[in-house]
Amino acid sequence: MLLIKNVLHQNRITDILINDGRFAKIAPGQSVAGARIVDGRDKAVLPAFYNLHSHAGMSVFRGLSDDKELFAWLNQDIWPREAKLTPEMIYLATRFSILEMIKTGTVFFLDMYFEQQEILKAARQMGVRTVSALTGLDLFDAAKTKTEIEKIEKYIACGEHDEQCLKGLMIHAVYSVSEELIRYIVKRAEENGYYLTLHASETAKEVEDCLKTHGCTPIEYLDRLGALGPKTIVAHAVHLTDSDIALLARKKVPLCTNPVSNYKLASGLFMLQKLQKAGCVLTLGTDSMASNNNLSMLEEMKLCALSAKIQSGDATAGNAEDVFKMATVNGARAVGLDAGEIAEGKLADCILVDLNSHFLVPNYNLISNMVYSADSSCIDTVICNGRILMQNRHVDGEEEIIAEIKKLSEFFRN
Ligand SMILES: [Zn+2]
Repeated sequence: MLLIKNVLHQNRITDILINDGRFAKIAPGQSVAGARIVDGRDKAVLPAFYNLHSHAGMSVFRGLSDDKELFAWLNQDIWPREAKLTPEMIYLATRFSILEMIKTGTVFFLDMYFEQQEILKAARQMGVRTVSALTGLDLFDAAKTKTEIEKIEKYIACGEHDEQCLKGLMIHAVYSVSEELIRYIVKRAEENGYYLTLHASETAKEVEDCLKTHGCTPIEYLDRLGALGPKTIVAHAVHLTDSDIALLARKKVPLCTNPVSNYKLASGLFMLQKLQKAGCVLTLGTDSMASNNNLSMLEEMKLCALSAKIQSGDATAGNAEDVFKMATVNGARAVGLDAGEIAEGKLADCILVDLNSHFLVPNYNLISNMVYSADSSCIDTVICNGRILMQNRHVDGEEEIIAEIKKLSEFFRN
């Protein structure tokens, strides 16, 4: 049991009791025998962040190749190096990504990469939540389709799977995965009740190529193959037609925007206001450290809000409250978590922010401060499932994790 004493919650000072991984009671003046006390004075409690798009294993490539066009970046720099990654390296790189997520207030990541059992292991050890989606990527090579199917079956059969750390599957993109493999992944995800995720309509080129090859947009093509529904999280979704938007809204497909990555790779601007008006489910993600280059949902929220204003030409678009919800409760709900809000009965995921931080003063509107002003130094404590993952800005074992990555990066330097 945890008892957070004298913390600011919705403009009032109160106590929050956490029991069995949930917020048990929110009321002032509580004293509970046997509960571990967390001093909440000069702090506010807020929902933690849910990152709906990451490739945690890529953290070892941070800063290795920047300022390139997406396909050149993938073909010349990223894919050749990814071929050298061992499961052990992916495990270490994922621990490093999780460390950065915790340091920046994130307790859940929807991850897509290779060797996803290593991601599950790292997430469980460090106490965060994940949906770990194994990536299908065959580059239209029939031999590779076969090996990808074998990998998927091996992953489905592996035991690493529980409520906090779920397995999922991913279709890399329509430009990199054959129809046969897409259909297979869709079928196996459905049969196993897994979440499915994919990159779609990220660049104008992807949409043009899809129109030439399949006579329809990537969204229409994916729909034709049965890939779209409420358990499919579509990452990017930058270049959409009006009929794509109507289809995504009708099928309740959660969309995950990654503004920093889209800016950096010059992919385009997410049509937040238009998608919101159409009734689409909107969430937020960071993409990887190789294309961001950090995993801070705070930075992501700010750029998301600013981008919505520029894209629509309307300063009221992407308001702080809506963007904060995208980063918290919308993301949690999209992956079936009863979390993302500080309320009795909800899963006990939260952050405590330091109200003496200069970034949060004056405090007229805390959500506004979090979206437009805060950086990660404001986050003092991170709690996931009722367990403290960071306190006084320190995560157990962080020095060792950083040392491991410094060492590993020497291998990829050339
Ligand atoms: Zn991605």
